[in-house]
Amino acid sequence: MAPIRVAIVGIGKIALDQHLPAIAGDTDFVLAATVSPNHPGVDGVAHFKTLDALLASDVGVDAVALCTPPQVRYDLAAQALASGRHVFLEKPPGATLSEVAALTAQAEASGVTLFASWHSRFAAGVAPARAWLADKRIVRAAIVWREDVRVWHPGQAWIWEPGGLGVFDPGINALSIATHILPQPFFLASATLSTPANRAAPIAADLAFRDSVGAPITMDLDWRQTGPQSWDITVDTDVGTLALSKGGAVLTLPDGEQHSDDREYPGLYAHFATLVRERRSDVDTDPMRLVADAFLRGTRETVEAFDD
Ligand code: NAP
Repeated sequence: MAPIRVAIVGIGKIALDQHLPAIAGDTDFVLAATVSPNHPGVDGVAHFKTLDALLASDVGVDAVALCTPPQVRYDLAAQALASGRHVFLEKPPGATLSEVAALTAQAEASGVTLFASWHSRFAAGVAPARAWLADKRIVRAAIVWREDVRVWHPGQAWIWEPGGLGVFDPGINALSIATHILPQPFFLASATLSTPANRAAPIAADLAFRDSVGAPITMDLDWRQTGPQSWDITVDTDVGTLALSKGGAVLTLPDGEQHSDDREYPGLYAHFATLVRERRSDVDTDPMRLVADAFLRGTRETVEAFDD
């Protein structure tokens, strides 16, 4: 079967760190073009400053992977879908839930694939955690996602703007895992969002959720963590405790620990290839809806100004 000719749109940190190597290592794909307003592109691959310019060219492209900040993603995705291209959305799938719903309807009407990716769901420990929890009674769960924004998001002005989600940019990864592994749906009970005086998006948040059978789930997000970083989910069940650490890469069950290789982005691209071949879409907005609920229902507090 001919490889899928994919273009990357938005050559920034995640495109360079993960998308380019994942595409290079997957025989189902060939990198046909790149699009980025300021980045010069990749040696030997057609490069354009805008998606318009790519679509007006004679470079053949079957699919685009949108690796831009979320605030500009809708227009790019709608344009790509309208031109008959399959679309891979980096997380979060958009700046609002409504625009993701509009894209979903557009993809369905035009018969092309829309994939709202959640890379953390492809971390090594996540699938076995989901399988293990499927028949357990959940007593409580705790999410602790504390990292140093200066290390992980240096100079990314968009992440502090409305729609950039602030500390929920990493926090939504934790929610993408929790919504996938916990056997019952859960919803927000309360939240406090802490926003620096000079910023438009939160630097920290404390959230309390409850699942549909009453189990409490807490979430502690903080971008001011220096030293060791925490990307941990602990689930207490009727038969013992499950722990996912290192962002889902390491799973510890009551009878021991399991490690495997990190295959998040190769896993995402393998799934995208299957969706494209089968002309299916995969758009799950559950993680984003929980974040939207935190912005809808949470208490706001202003905290000390924060500079990169
Ligand atoms: P980033 O380093 O700021 O890169 C985003 C790039 O998008 C910029 O370099 C910019 O390219 C390009 N861009 C902006 N507007 C554009 C437009 N209208 N058309 C085409 N390109 C445009 O951000 P990032 O960290 O890669 O994050 C991008 C997305 O990936 C976010 O949604 C983030 O949540 C997600 N993600 C990031 C990570 C991570 O570790 N950083 C991990 C997983 C997922 P120019 O430089 O050419 O202007």
